[in-house]
Amino acid sequence: MNDLHQLPITTVKGIGEETARALNEMNINNVMDLFLHFPYRYEDYRLRDLAEVQHDERVTVEGVIHSEPSLVYYGRKKSKLTIRLLVGRYLITCVFFNQPYLKKNLAISQPVTVTGKWDKHRQTITVSSYQTGQQQRDSQFEPVYAVKGDVTVKGLRRYLAAAFKEFGQDIKEILPENLIRDYKLLHRRDALRALHFPADERDLRHSRRRIVYEEFLLFQLKMQAIRKVQREQSKGLKQKYDIGKLKGFIDSLPFPLTDAQKRVVNEILTDLKSPYRMNRLLQGDVGSGKTVVSAIALFAANSAGFQGALMVPTEILAEQHAKSLEGMMEPHGIRTALLTSSIKGKKRREILGLLEAGQIDILIGTHALIQDEVNFQSLGLVITDEQHRFGVEQRRVLREKGASPDVLFMTATPIPRTLAITAFGEMDVSIIDEMPAGRKKIETYWTKHDTLDRVLGFVGKELRQGRQAYVICPLIEESEKLDLQNALDVHGTLTQYFQGRFHVGLMHGKLPAAEKEEVMRSFSTNDIQVLVSTTVVEVGVNVPNATVMVIYDAERFGLSQLHQLRGRVGRGSDQSYCVLIADPKNEVGKERMKIMSETNDGFVLSEKDLELRGPGDFFGKKQSGVPEFKMADMVHDYRALEVARSDAAALVNSDVFWKDPEYAPLRNHLKESGVLSGEKFD
Ligand code: ADP
Ligand code: MG
Repeated sequence: MNDLHQLPITTVKGIGEETARALNEMNINNVMDLFLHFPYRYEDYRLRDLAEVQHDERVTVEGVIHSEPSLVYYGRKKSKLTIRLLVGRYLITCVFFNQPYLKKNLAISQPVTVTGKWDKHRQTITVSSYQTGQQQRDSQFEPVYAVKGDVTVKGLRRYLAAAFKEFGQDIKEILPENLIRDYKLLHRRDALRALHFPADERDLRHSRRRIVYEEFLLFQLKMQAIRKVQREQSKGLKQKYDIGKLKGFIDSLPFPLTDAQKRVVNEILTDLKSPYRMNRLLQGDVGSGKTVVSAIALFAANSAGFQGALMVPTEILAEQHAKSLEGMMEPHGIRTALLTSSIKGKKRREILGLLEAGQIDILIGTHALIQDEVNFQSLGLVITDEQHRFGVEQRRVLREKGASPDVLFMTATPIPRTLAITAFGEMDVSIIDEMPAGRKKIETYWTKHDTLDRVLGFVGKELRQGRQAYVICPLIEESEKLDLQNALDVHGTLTQYFQGRFHVGLMHGKLPAAEKEEVMRSFSTNDIQVLVSTTVVEVGVNVPNATVMVIYDAERFGLSQLHQLRGRVGRGSDQSYCVLIADPKNEVGKERMKIMSETNDGFVLSEKDLELRGPGDFFGKKQSGVPEFKMADMVHDYRALEVARSDAAALVNSDVFWKDPEYAPLRNHLKESGVLSGEKFD
């Protein structure tokens, strides 16, 4: 049997040196590469009823020419040939651009088959290909490939046909037989053949199903293997926490835990006492009660004799967390301290000394926590809140602080599960998917710009009842100047509107850090009643007295971001409101506003966001980390992704996988992808 990876592309009939060079440019170097060059779409030649075809869709129809073709020249070398075609009971127009010579082929009463784009409004097809007479094709689906240089789509089809004829039998299976049988998958050879030469739609569907599963499985094998190796190689601490004390602590909380909180607490405790090092992502919607969970984890570590650290992105948040943790911990004799970059001099030295002497149990702070001078006596647990604000490097430095502390990352940006198990595939994921009882839904309204007076009237009413409001202006990324101007304008308008009654503060990214903190502080102490801000206010801030969130130009934000912003209100017991001011220009924008008004569920929103934006854009450009699949689509194929993930986990944790010849192709894949090296393969 030929090893197709070793077989040069020139062994295929019809591919000479020159073509080979052109193919090399497309990263097609051997015969297997050629088979794995997937079509990116198909020309669909199935005949369809025009009534069912959408505007701008491609379509193939059979008809009879109903009028003399008319030919018009315009400009140099440009022409338009028009015929009327009777298709069933429709009389439509067909236009051929720049092919004047076709005129003589097209006579009245002649049957033709045309393919092209359907303009529903004009009842016109712009023809891209045609045949006189009835349709006679091998397949109703013709693959279309990405090509480069001198390589053409027709050429590729020819090379593939030749390659299949000669070497198709040599395509080796890489999946184990039992999986193929259980899932009724096509064999690799048949799947690839069907992909390039589909007989019909069913053929294509089966082929796709097999290839999607394979892609996901190979990817998840990599993630699960990394995870396994990390677990085996990084010896963690066995934290023997005191279950009696811990129960006492949980009972001392002013509320019972939700079931979801109980579940994730258990997941975390299991990690703490295991010899493995915890590497866990905790997701929970805004207000779902992650802070309490982190407190329980820190308490457990403390009862096992270890120090803990909680790291957050801003000083304000650090202060907030320090205050609430102190309230929970002091009664149990646990010493907490706050460390930020504005704590300096003697005070700072004192904290550092106590920390190193083991006389501070829990340290709360900003990334000041990961500076070199900060040394713990026995760091056992590190928690970072709002992890998406910390860079990978910062997280790594933090992990290296103690001997090998357990690490918990918390995020309030619900990440759709499909993305979480791909982008964070090597981490364990815990999800709080339930809100504490009695939480009021934030009433959300969508309104147009011209209703601003009414919106301000409404804000004024809440303010008179002693409440506070946020007014958010969007970040216009292309121009920070404009962005600022926007906020400044709104600030000016509102200052005038509420003059003599309420204080309006301004917050934006251009303010020096100290001033930002000052503004936020004034807002949290209610010295400012209305805070006009750009999106810097997005993360974690907790001012329970604020009950109104007004968002200007809301159509500029993604759903997840809108949800984060909205999460700044509704944190107290009062009814809260969110007003979206937006004139969305397109359907997607309108859809977003509607969904926001309908649901408060962050996970529902993030799934929608993923659908509307696609996986590549979900995290924004900078920190995507989302792999690209050739065929699989995380949103569409999420079920296959789930299945592949659990299959991959089962495989890497079984003994046969690492020994049995049947799994050699999969092991080879891991080896080649470089995630594993050394003894596993020797
Ligand atoms: P998150 O950090 O996930 O946004 P928090 O931990 O700040 O949420 O919790 C939001 C609010 O809900 C806090 O005031 C907290 O005391 C309260 N809370 C947390 N868990 C519960 C619970 N199980 N029952 C009632 N209230 C809770
Ligand atoms: Mg929080």
